[in-house]
Amino acid sequence: MTESPVGDHCDCGAVAGPLGVCVDYYHAILSEEQADPHMYRWHAPVVCAYLLQHPSRADEKYLDGQFRQMQLYVDKGLDALLRVAAHQVARNKHGARLNYDMAPLAAYEPLPPGGPPRHFRATFSGLPLRDGSFVADGYLAYGHHIETIAEATVDAWRSIQAPGFVG
Ligand SMILES: [Zn+2]
Repeated sequence: MTESPVGDHCDCGAVAGPLGVCVDYYHAILSEEQADPHMYRWHAPVVCAYLLQHPSRADEKYLDGQFRQMQLYVDKGLDALLRVAAHQVARNKHGARLNYDMAPLAAYEPLPPGGPPRHFRATFSGLPLRDGSFVADGYLAYGHHIETIAEATVDAWRSIQAPGFVG
């Protein structure tokens, strides 16, 4: 079931911010990071977190790999995630395999069934924006916000109860 944004709420449950719902923030981030290589370092966690919070916009077959990448990022940080991503790009250049190499991600939990979660405690439409920029307060601050969204994403998916479970 796909839910369209209704009024000032996004389909992830978030309340719209000054820019609009999450997709408006997502597009603004993608646009700003294109012109800013340092900001672009957070591209992978931004994409994974956005798709995991809005799975109706995602390709279902990649969500499991994206959920594992999110866990790796929360667990080991941005550099560890970038190493896996670089490895991924190298593999795709050398062969025809377009699927994720799961080896570095195999230690992490698969995507739980029964999603998507109805609520995330940190969302894209809650990202602070100053003078039209997401990095006006510095890259460290921006990275911290993305990490907070990533943690909220992993926690929300992990807290899904199995269908039929009465807690
Ligand atoms: Zn949303």
